[in-house]
Amino acid sequence: MNAEIIAVGSELLLGQIENSNAAYLSKELTTLGINVYHHITVGDNPDRLQAAVESAAERADLLIFTGGLGPTKDDLTKETVAKVTGAPLIYDDETEQRILAYYAKRGQTMTVNNRKQALILEGADVFPNDHGMACGMSLKTDKTQWIMLPGPPKELQPMVEDYLMPYLRRELYTNEKIESKILRFFDIGESKIAEELDDLIENQTNPTIAPLASEGEIKIRLTVKGDDPAENGRLLEEMKTEVLSRIGKYFYGEGEKDLRELVNDRLRASNQTIASAESLTGGLFAETLTSLSGASDVFPGGVVCYSNAVKENVLSVPRKLLDEHGAVSGACAARLAENVRKLMDVDIGISFTGVAGPDPLEGHEPGVVFMAISQIDDTTVIPLNLAGSRRNISGRTVKYGCFHLLKI
Ligand code: ATP
Ligand code: MG
Repeated sequence: MNAEIIAVGSELLLGQIENSNAAYLSKELTTLGINVYHHITVGDNPDRLQAAVESAAERADLLIFTGGLGPTKDDLTKETVAKVTGAPLIYDDETEQRILAYYAKRGQTMTVNNRKQALILEGADVFPNDHGMACGMSLKTDKTQWIMLPGPPKELQPMVEDYLMPYLRRELYTNEKIESKILRFFDIGESKIAEELDDLIENQTNPTIAPLASEGEIKIRLTVKGDDPAENGRLLEEMKTEVLSRIGKYFYGEGEKDLRELVNDRLRASNQTIASAESLTGGLFAETLTSLSGASDVFPGGVVCYSNAVKENVLSVPRKLLDEHGAVSGACAARLAENVRKLMDVDIGISFTGVAGPDPLEGHEPGVVFMAISQIDDTTVIPLNLAGSRRNISGRTVKYGCFHLLKI
C-alpha cells in the first residue's frame, strides 16, 4: 500500500508553521508497513487544492489530509474531497451532538459556521475529536482510501493514536500482527550503515529494515508482519542476528531507551556509583546523567576541572605529570578518572580532557580528546579524534563516555 500525505494550509506555505503533522504521520504509517511516497503541502486555494488532490489520487492508494476541516470559508478539505470523489456532504447527528456538547461545556452556543463542522462525506467512517470540534473521517472509493484529519497537532495526534491506527490495522491486516524491534547503534556513520546493510535494505520484504539517524546515534527499526506470533518472533530474531553480524561492534542496546538512560539503568541494576572529572566537557556528563530522575542513587557528584590549577589542587594531578604530558593527554585523563573515583568514593571514575576548539591547545588540534574510565582494579584510557563545533565535540564526547560505560 502506498500513501501520500496532503497538508492543507496557507500558513504552512508562508513558513509561519512547520509541517510537523506530515513527519508525525509518516513515522506512524511506517510502523504499519505503509510506504509514504509523497508529502504535499498546498494552500487554502480551491483550484490548486483540487488539482493537487486529483493528481495524488492518480498515484496513491491512501491519501491522508491534515488541516482545513475547520468552520471557516478557507477550510476546504472536505468540500474538495466531496467534489473529487462525488460523495455528497451530509450532516452527521452524532458529530453535531458532540459539537453542541463541546459548546455547552464552555457555556457557549453553536454558531451557524460551526455547524459546518458536523458535515461529513456520505459513507465515511467518523473519528471523534476528543480534543476539539472537527471530526476526522475515512472514506473508501474504488481505488482510493481518503482520510481527513484536523490540523492542530493536539487534536490530530490523539485521533491518530486512539482511532486511526487501530482502524488502519483492522483494515490492512485483519489477522496479521505487527511487531517491531529497535536496535540502537553509536559511532557509526550513515554511509557505513549503507555499505554494510545495503543488500539487506534493498531486498527487504518481511521484516522490513528502517535506519533512522539522529545526533550521532542510529536506530534501526525491524518490523515484521504475519499472523503467527511465534514465526514473527523468529523472523525478527533472525534479522537481528544478521544485522549484528555485520555492525555488532557499534550496537549498544535495544528498545526505546537512549544511551544515557541505559547507562543509568545499568548502574542502578549493578548497584554501582560513578563520578566525573570534566575538563573539556565542562560538566556536560554530569548534566546528562542528572537530567534523569533518580540519578542521585548512581551519581553523587563530579568536578569541573577546566583549569590546570583545579586539576592539580582539587584532583591531585601532579604538577610534574601536567608539565611532562600536558593536560591533553592519556596520562592526565587516567589520573583524573582515578582521583575523582577516590575523592568521591565511588565505583567508577570517568574523565574527559581534550581540545574543544576552535584553537589548538598544547599543540593538539581541536577534536583531540582523551577519556578515561577508572574502576578499582583497572583504568582504561580511550583516545578520540572528533570533528565539529565546540558544542558538537563535547556532546559527542559525553556520548562516547556513555557508550564505553555500557561496554565495561
Ligand atoms: P481548526 O478547526 O482549528 O480551524 P483545521 O482542521 O481547519 O482546524 P487548520 O485551520 O488548517 O486546521 O489549522 C489549524 C492550526 O493547526 C494551524 O494554525 C496550525 O497551528 C496547526 N496546523 C495545521 N496544519 C498543520 C501541520 N501540517 N503541521 C503542524 N501544525 C499544523
Ligand atoms: Mg481551520
